[in-house]
Amino acid sequence: MTLTEELRAALSPGAVLTGPDIPEGARSDASGVGRSLPLLLLRPSSTAEVSAALRICARHGQTVVPQGGMTGLAGGACPAATDVALSLERLDVIAEIDAEASCITLGAGCILQTAQEAAAAAGFQFPVDLGARGSATIGGMIATNAGGVRVIRHGMMRDNLLGLEVVLADGTILSHLAKVRKDNTGYALGQLIAGSEGTLGVITRATLLLHPMPLARETALCALDRFADVLALLALARSELPGLSAFEAMWQGYFALNQQAENLRLFPAPPPFTVILETETSGGPGKSAVLEDLLATAMDRAVITDALIAQSDRDARSFWAVREGHHLDRLLPGLLNLDVSLATGEMGAFADAVATRIAADFPTARVHFFGHVGDGNLHLALHLPQPDARAAHAVEAIAYDTLRAFAGSVSAEHGIGTLKRDWLQHSRSAAEIATMRQLKAALDPRHILNPGKVLPDAD
Ligand SMILES: Cc1cc2nc3c(=O)[nH]c(=O)nc-3n(C[C@H](O)[C@H](O)[C@H](O)COP(=O)(O)OP(=O)(O)OC[C@H]3O[C@@H](n4cnc5c(N)ncnc54)[C@H](O)[C@@H]3O)c2cc1C
Repeated sequence: MTLTEELRAALSPGAVLTGPDIPEGARSDASGVGRSLPLLLLRPSSTAEVSAALRICARHGQTVVPQGGMTGLAGGACPAATDVALSLERLDVIAEIDAEASCITLGAGCILQTAQEAAAAAGFQFPVDLGARGSATIGGMIATNAGGVRVIRHGMMRDNLLGLEVVLADGTILSHLAKVRKDNTGYALGQLIAGSEGTLGVITRATLLLHPMPLARETALCALDRFADVLALLALARSELPGLSAFEAMWQGYFALNQQAENLRLFPAPPPFTVILETETSGGPGKSAVLEDLLATAMDRAVITDALIAQSDRDARSFWAVREGHHLDRLLPGLLNLDVSLATGEMGAFADAVATRIAADFPTARVHFFGHVGDGNLHLALHLPQPDARAAHAVEAIAYDTLRAFAGSVSAEHGIGTLKRDWLQHSRSAAEIATMRQLKAALDPRHILNPGKVLPDAD
């Protein structure tokens, strides 16, 4: 039998799509770099079907690219024309919410927003949150160890991962859906699979930690003059706001661009730095004196020059809309979106150094900075008026070479995929990369899973 015939015989009806039945969306993730539709698109509906599909593909030496919601920003889910794409979209069942253990067990294809809503209906929050919440899947988020805006309080996906079910390249099912934080039983295989971007195994189910639902979230927007003031406000917020759940900074250019795109005028003029502060409160509804006191102290100490407290969900949404920058792709076509991390105290100096070096070599380029400053995570929105691959690479090289001097990471949360493969050596030593290759060879000796992703080509 051919590969397609074997897969059709093993999987449920409608699970094997070929030719024109393969939807356009299978071509690329949100990075837009995918060029090819896959050979086949598989849509298994159970862990057993994922296992059967991988067993058959392994026997045929067929490469497989796992796909979730295709919102990734590193090209990790993009197939070559010779790959089989394996979509987890049908594994979207929420199996259980265990209130006593404060955890949720769900399928890898479950959409983040659906999981958040299910948790909320049971009186909990699943706190990892990001702009792509309506499409990103739990499996894809674990595979990329997604972060988002509340990492400062609740951590990334790995921090909220209790148990994982994963299918290895040869079809072996490893199911360890533990409901406990304390589980020192040998190697943490789930933590290894998390962040491996589909190169070590296919995630089929997970058990994730749930957190108490805060009674209220309060949000403030602060104007500041210098990056040193951003750091002073962060220190103050960390000590005075026990529920601090987001601390997001925008440099002037980023704020001005997105405020205008949202048709808002939040401050009389775009400040040099703007910070969104969010805090979760469980002590009672209404405006918290703690946040107001903090802002008053910051104003007295000349740390901030102005501040707005959201009086409604609508106000808070407008602050976040500027930060989330929904119009960036339209405003800056061909945008290069870098996602680096480095010691929080050095972020201002790093941004200044990158801006200066780019202005010297590419005077017409624009670079905007924003990010999860509380987590040392900075995003760089780079725009070249006439983008071409060589110039884009040169601008990236300036940013990553500068980052190397700050001992930073070339990927804070988006992953490596294909886009940052060639820069991995800026953040990981040759010995570390060699160890990663050994792990890959141990779990996927025939290099079936997500070829060409994460690890640079061997010399
Ligand atoms: C508007 C917007 C905002 C974003 N904001 C953030 C943010 O704040 N923080 C952040 O971290 N990311 C952010 N992202 C990036 C993206 O949402 C995350 O990377 C997300 O985790 C990807 O999930 P997905 O289901 O779309 O995965 P996909 O894009 O489909 O896949 C991502 C990677 O995971 C692999 N994969 C997918 N499913 C599985 C599985 N079941 N088993 C094994 N491997 C799998 C794929 O092969 C690929 O390598 C944003 C993206 C957009 C478009």
